[in-house]
Order: sequence, then structure tokens, then C-alpha cells
Amino acid sequence: MKFRVGSGFDIHRLEAGRPLRLGGVDIPHPAGLVGHSDGDVLLHAMIDALLGATGLGNIGQRFPDTDSRYKNADSRELLGEVARQVRDMGFGIANIDSNILAEQPRLLPWLAAMASNAASAAGVSSEQITVKAKTMEGLGPIGKGEAIAAEAVVLVYAP
Ligand code: MG
Repeated sequence: MKFRVGSGFDIHRLEAGRPLRLGGVDIPHPAGLVGHSDGDVLLHAMIDALLGATGLGNIGQRFPDTDSRYKNADSRELLGEVARQVRDMGFGIANIDSNILAEQPRLLPWLAAMASNAASAAGVSSEQITVKAKTMEGLGPIGKGEAIAAEAVVLVYAP
């Protein structure tokens, strides 16, 4: 059995009056993430982890923000596309673990829905995806509520 791990990270600026979508969940909050797509940092980190594990480059190369096809794109579809490509290469996804770094809002009530959304997008079961959230204790731009970041690691395997 061949194993590969991948890591992904993403950060987007928060801007007042925009919708906040994390892990495909629309969360009530006075500010949302600025991005060419829907700005879903959690799914972007997962996508980058999958691309990294399989040597497929990075999310900027795969879905360029100069390409109008990805304007306001639903990141669940982008994750689905990459997961299919990973599977076409002969890999299975063992698990994805992730962290969201956000000062506000408190995300605990939505974490299970995010894992479930990511799982259906990636074509795996909910138990294979874990989403955790933490604050930055008021430190730096994330701590000051100027941005939200996410990181993810994935393990893929091939027989
Ligand atoms: Mg992004």
C-alpha cells in the first residue's frame, strides 16, 4: 500500500456586509470572506491538501482567479472536481483533518454540518472528515477579526 499526506492552508480577508460561508455552511455574521470564488477558506485548504498529496500543484494553478468560470464558484464543486481527479489517479482518501482559525463567530454549532458538506463534496463519509475551530486569542490580523484562515491535512492511499 502506498500512502501520501498533503497539507493545505488558506486565508481570506473579512469584509463587512459580505456573506460568510465556511465548509459550505452560510453562517450569520456581519462580515464575510473576500474571494474570487465564494471565499470558503476551509474547503480551499482541503483542496490544496488533496492537490499537495497527489502532486497536482496548488489551488491557484488549478482554479486561477483570472478564470471567469470560477467567479463566485461554489467551493463544494471545486472540492468535488479535485476529489474525482484524485480518485481517477487511483488514490482513495483515508481522512482529512482541519482547523479553522477565526476570532468570531464561534463556530462550534456548525462544525458537524461543515464536515458533512465536505464529506459529500469529496465523496467520502462524514467520519472521514474532522473540522475543528479555534481563536487566535486576539493576536494578529485573525485575532483582530480582519481575516479567517484554515489548514487541513489529508492522507491518501493507493493499493
Ligand atoms: Mg482561497
